[in-house]
Amino acid sequence: MTDLTSLTLAEARKGLADKTFTSLELTDAHLSAIEAARVLNAFVMETPDQARAMAREADGKIAKGDAGPLAGIPLGIKDLFATKGVRTTACSKILGNFVPTYESTVTSQLWRDGAVMLGKLNNDEFAMGSSNETSCFGPVGNPWRRDGSNTTLVPGGSSGGSASAVAALLCMGATATDTGGSIRQPAAFTATVGIKPTYGRCSRWGIVAFASSLDQAGPIARSVRDAAMLLRSMAGHDPKDTTSVDIPVPDYEAAIGKSVKGMKIGIPREYRLDGMPAEIEKLWSEGAAWLKAAGAELVEVSLPHTKYALPAYYIVAPAEASSNLARYDGVRYGLREPAKNIIELYENTRASGFGAEVKRRVMIGTYVLSAGYYDAYYLRAQKVRTLIKKDFEDCFAKGVDAILTPATPSAAFGIGEKGGADPVEMYLNDIFTVTVNMAGLPGIAVPAGKDAQGLPLGLQLIGRPFDEETLFSLGEVIEQAAGRFTPARWW
Ligand code: GLN
Repeated sequence: MTDLTSLTLAEARKGLADKTFTSLELTDAHLSAIEAARVLNAFVMETPDQARAMAREADGKIAKGDAGPLAGIPLGIKDLFATKGVRTTACSKILGNFVPTYESTVTSQLWRDGAVMLGKLNNDEFAMGSSNETSCFGPVGNPWRRDGSNTTLVPGGSSGGSASAVAALLCMGATATDTGGSIRQPAAFTATVGIKPTYGRCSRWGIVAFASSLDQAGPIARSVRDAAMLLRSMAGHDPKDTTSVDIPVPDYEAAIGKSVKGMKIGIPREYRLDGMPAEIEKLWSEGAAWLKAAGAELVEVSLPHTKYALPAYYIVAPAEASSNLARYDGVRYGLREPAKNIIELYENTRASGFGAEVKRRVMIGTYVLSAGYYDAYYLRAQKVRTLIKKDFEDCFAKGVDAILTPATPSAAFGIGEKGGADPVEMYLNDIFTVTVNMAGLPGIAVPAGKDAQGLPLGLQLIGRPFDEETLFSLGEVIEQAAGRFTPARWW
């Protein structure tokens, strides 16, 4: 039998249906792979007993012909999703050993459809970061290395554990979240596919909140089809999230292989940055050429407010974070540091429970929301946000179906290489992704090539609201042209 962990989700679904192997065998193969890859630090909690129990249940249902769309498929869950009875920490010390008594809506839908949980995946603390280096469980290793080098690189962030685990064949797919790029940037760094759906497409209920007006869940997978299969289960209306939108979830998989002939693809002028590596530029032109060869029409478009997106994001996101994180006070969750009075309790708990990056965000957020500065910073950032959204609306009003951009300004970098002295160096990773969150649009990252050092690079496609289907159709054209990328195993 071929190694079960190297199958795509779609292939595994077929193997399970044909009874070539059982979910228990598939699950055991992944549990062994996880054990052998602990050096990557992708999982912060392994749940083998639960996984085997869920696999047996799936096998029973498959035998009875009663299988859900993801029956028996082993997945990893970002530690930002509340999982009933299983420790959920957002990779922050402040949540301690918090064990939720409830399940997030997104994960409950995956279990409803028969998926199997292998464990919880590492991420940047409270999803704040672009390298997974802010996690209280330590950094995650990218399964990709530069040719001829044994330096461990970051998998990107904040969904670094999700991307690393999917790329290293430790799970068939993973949940992730994206507030400013946290699904798409790690996907690009690891040659995986990641889609951030339209804001409101997936319920945020039961996901640890970072910046509520930007946060959105989505899958990371090894192919565009696999991502489509996962999103179908994850998406849907949920009355428990007032921002969740009540429109039917399409069969995303049906969009795979659909003709893209006649589609208008926008190439935004403002994404051509000064000093952008020639390799990224080349990848972008190649991607455009592939779409053109498939019958799409390329048009130059302008998104004039792009240059303000990153500064505006770093006001809006910390502002919301400072408010969301006020709940970690030592009284309600996890960690509690001893103190003489209530104020000291808050201070001691928050001082020892939050990491440096989280503290920086809370301070920035508190500052921009404070009386006297609110209008100058927060209100102005909100206005910029409206203009960014309008840039996209103008573009789509001209008949553009999707916009093609690079996913990241560089390939993966080494642990400790970026952001040490200047946090902005790290923030710049999200230069191509944050606009999409600011506008609430769907965006997909698809592996498209490699740099001169053999590291994967991705392209991003941005779509109209609730038109994830077009992104899947176009994404698959790129995937077909670029081929699949698998890292050489060193762990
Ligand atoms: N890197 C960005 C940040 O640190 C985005 C993170 C995310 O999307 N969760 O805010």
